[in-house]
Amino acid sequence: MSTGFFFDERTMWHGGGNYAFTLPIGGLVQPLAAGGLPESPETKRRLKNLMDVTGLTHDLDVHSASEASREALLRVHPAGYLDEFKAMSDAGGGELGRRTPFAAGGYELAALSAGLAVGAVDAVVTGEVQNAYALSRPPGHHCLPDFPNGFCLMANIAIAIEAAQAKRHAARVVVLDWDVHHGNGTEAIYYDRDDVLTISLHQEGNYPLDTGALLDRGKGKGVGYNLNLPLPAGTGHDAYLYALDRVVIPQIEAFNPDLIVVACGYDAAVIDPLARMLATADTFRQMTLRIKDAAERLCDGKLVLVHEGGYSEVYVPFCGHATLEALSGSQITAPDPFAHAFTVRQPNARFGAFLKDTIDELALELGI
Ligand code: ZN
Repeated sequence: MSTGFFFDERTMWHGGGNYAFTLPIGGLVQPLAAGGLPESPETKRRLKNLMDVTGLTHDLDVHSASEASREALLRVHPAGYLDEFKAMSDAGGGELGRRTPFAAGGYELAALSAGLAVGAVDAVVTGEVQNAYALSRPPGHHCLPDFPNGFCLMANIAIAIEAAQAKRHAARVVVLDWDVHHGNGTEAIYYDRDDVLTISLHQEGNYPLDTGALLDRGKGKGVGYNLNLPLPAGTGHDAYLYALDRVVIPQIEAFNPDLIVVACGYDAAVIDPLARMLATADTFRQMTLRIKDAAERLCDGKLVLVHEGGYSEVYVPFCGHATLEALSGSQITAPDPFAHAFTVRQPNARFGAFLKDTIDELALELGI
């Protein structure tokens, strides 16, 4: 069966905000020539462009989607938030949260981004495709039900999972978030539930600073169904794969899901401007192969990757291409032009051993 690829150029037109990187312009902060927040369209559009140039797009089952319906949005977001967002969007745009501006029509574009995730999950759980990738923009994993933050305006993955569960298609779901930032929105939405296991690998001490702690395990019947693995700055290829093998995959196996969804950010990559990790395109390829293998063993291969962060316009396309090669099994490749440069910059043996020991210690502290 095929791999679905959910994309819509209109979502690349989401924008807004007078920022220079993450600083509001004004005072001593001069506007940039190519201004705006790091969450610009270019990282994501350039992934699609690279796929078109190599031909990988033609090996995938390409779809757009409709906007997520109000009914679908209301399963996650309160009506008051949606109404306020829509009114501000209709009036020309603005900002309702923290550094998460939108322009006129931003509401519809956020709903379309969520719709791409809904479409991808629906296609997988109904068996239309084997697995799928949603190139959603704006991203979603930071968005709380009533508070947009971290460039995220709607909780794309949660909206998609709730839509599938409303149709009784996926009773038990794992969300694995390997975006370098903590998936605080997804965690908050599922914190008291035992039917959705949320796992976040993230750089300790990165955004958001007040969430993502190791011992935040859930509440009520959700205790034990939220797992945070805060990793030190400088974590590279080997340690990421070790974290999957030592902690993530066994936890997913124990949970025995009907569907696995990955919050797939590429900002753990070596040259990302918003983090300090050392993952490479091959890291994302190998993580995808591992999670695909787990999905095939546990849930008939039902796996959806939803694009989140990743802010290097140059490198995200190669990371994403490697991920989609692994997901689809396509033989069409885009060799990583930085492979040598980033391999020689991996942690040395001493720091590598420290990172694995750290992961072992975190696992022991979690009792796993
Ligand atoms: Zn991120």
